[in-house]
Amino acid sequence: MVGRAVVRVAALAIALLCLLLPLSPARADAGVPAGWDVTTATEHITIGRVELRYDPRLSADARMLAERIPTWWSRIEQDLAGDLDDTMLISYVPHSGRIAEATGMPRWAAGVAHPPSGEILIAAHAPDGSKTDLEDLLKHEMVHVALYRATGGQPLPRWFHEGVAESFADNISIARVQTLAATVFGGGVPALEDIERSFHQNDPHGASVAYAASRDFVSFMRFYDDDGGAMRQALRNIRSGGGFEASFIQAYELSLEELGKEWRAGLRGRFAWFPIVGSGELPFFLVTPLVVVAFFRKRRKMKLAWARLEREDQEELARFLGVARRGGMVTALQPLTTQLH
Ligand SMILES: [Zn+2]
Repeated sequence: MVGRAVVRVAALAIALLCLLLPLSPARADAGVPAGWDVTTATEHITIGRVELRYDPRLSADARMLAERIPTWWSRIEQDLAGDLDDTMLISYVPHSGRIAEATGMPRWAAGVAHPPSGEILIAAHAPDGSKTDLEDLLKHEMVHVALYRATGGQPLPRWFHEGVAESFADNISIARVQTLAATVFGGGVPALEDIERSFHQNDPHGASVAYAASRDFVSFMRFYDDDGGAMRQALRNIRSGGGFEASFIQAYELSLEELGKEWRAGLRGRFAWFPIVGSGELPFFLVTPLVVVAFFRKRRKMKLAWARLEREDQEELARFLGVARRGGMVTALQPLTTQLH
């Protein structure tokens, strides 16, 4: 009973967040998501330039999605680029197993995007049978499409694609923040090349760290200035053929390596609460004051990026502790790495 709700929430979060980039390079190059079986998605709703196809059993969800897609998309495109081609074909099916069968992706995939064609496939149920969070899932996949368009389809490292998808979906992720905090105080956050490698290997723990670290590093760059202008500039530079690394140097006057150093330098301070909460087993009423003290002691004048990341951390921590309180104890900080890509 103790902490079970938290574990369930965290497990669900993981299931939702294990989202995939487009398939093998060969398929992405072909521009056609070959073999996607969407035969049960026989109904459709057209929203501007977006077509939403869905299984008739999912019509209530589909109507909800149709209402919200324009808002979600317009926020994503504004944040990334200002204005982008809005064309998308979204297919919504009951089970992710169907996606796996159709795409050859591992069965735990709950969603997949094919950015070159603007096609997205999402499922109502994760491979473990739990219901997916459609907002998380669809926003993440839409960001993949938007990023491809914002950068004109120029090649991007996988860590960047996933980091942007996670960051710009603007969802609170308890699992990600826990994973990152545990890494900061455990083995340390891997170098960018190792993070990139983790996306291409079949190591669930490495992948979970890779998602969490990529998300956080991208958020750091995104919040580097007041309005995200530097990130948008970097994306524009990439689109006009400036090259990935050079585009960041031009926009930030810092190399990715230098930005990465700045980001890493602040991690321990931001997650100062983790060793306290992460020790587990402490009753919540004992943990809370310690966490609050740790948090506010760490507050100081920071660069804008740090201030904004810290605010996000606080929201995530508050959410986490709220869930923990309902379970009575803080015992949920166990490895959360079972299902990631
Ligand atoms: Zn993804």
